[in-house]
Amino acid sequence: MSSSLQLKAIFLPALLALSLTAPAWSQLPGRGLSYGPATALEDTGPAKDLVISDQIPKQGQVVQVTVEASALSSGAGGAALPPLEVLGQKYKLFPAAEEGRSIYRALFAVPVVQKPGPYKIAIGALTGQITVKDAHFQVQRLSLPSSKNNFVTAPGEEEAVEKAKSTLSPERFWSENFVKPSHARTSAPFGIRRIVNGKLLSDYFHSGLDFAGFAGSPIYATAPGTVVLAQGGGVFKLHGNMVAIDHGQGVVSFYIHMQKVLVKTGQVVKAGEQIGLVGQTGRANGPHLHFSIYVNKVASSPLQWFTSAL
Ligand SMILES: [Zn+2]
Repeated sequence: MSSSLQLKAIFLPALLALSLTAPAWSQLPGRGLSYGPATALEDTGPAKDLVISDQIPKQGQVVQVTVEASALSSGAGGAALPPLEVLGQKYKLFPAAEEGRSIYRALFAVPVVQKPGPYKIAIGALTGQITVKDAHFQVQRLSLPSSKNNFVTAPGEEEAVEKAKSTLSPERFWSENFVKPSHARTSAPFGIRRIVNGKLLSDYFHSGLDFAGFAGSPIYATAPGTVVLAQGGGVFKLHGNMVAIDHGQGVVSFYIHMQKVLVKTGQVVKAGEQIGLVGQTGRANGPHLHFSIYVNKVASSPLQWFTSAL
């Protein structure tokens, strides 16, 4: 769960403090035994300004940054809330309560193509650092009939998908791990690059996780939210029939290549509610569900959401 990741980040400074003060403790026999981590945490003084859920995220991983509301108040009043700035992007902060304290938080996903290495992270004058780790995404070979070996879209298709990705509603609708959108086994993993008909696609990576469901098998909403795009009727040439669901605070899930769409734009859905049927509409070489989760317009690895949603 998210709490364990947050705890890791919170306790890290405490552990560092412990190791630094260890020699002094050794001169006070017996005292160390009575000191638990809770006491040591208090001894480290004020909490760190920025709490980062994982300071060594992999490419494709989602990271949450939390800051105490009091650390942002300038005292002057009326000052606009600064954004989270990381990896060349700015992300809006949202208010929340954590253990009775007033906090602000923001989510971002490390892009698949982000070069591994250290990067600065900032909210106003408060700063921290992350180190992006290489996720070692694989390369997959596949073949497509020449009629489908293109990225041609229908008029308005790209715009509609971009608009859905850009959804930024203030409420966070989820509080638990996301459910799998299909009972089928997964096929192509997230993040892989592809060699199609013998040719490596440059500037391409697999932006979702594929489920090899048979045609007509059910597709479920991965988490609660509002349908922001529901397009059936074989209109979209690349994505095929599809649904996008807004889960709040920049998190939007996508369900692509559907045989049939069973929801309408504006509809509120629960986690696990059926929203459509698996198909092979659009650019697909067989029936499967292409499932993606975008975080502020950046594709994230869906697996993390199933096991440890933030
Ligand atoms: Zn796919």
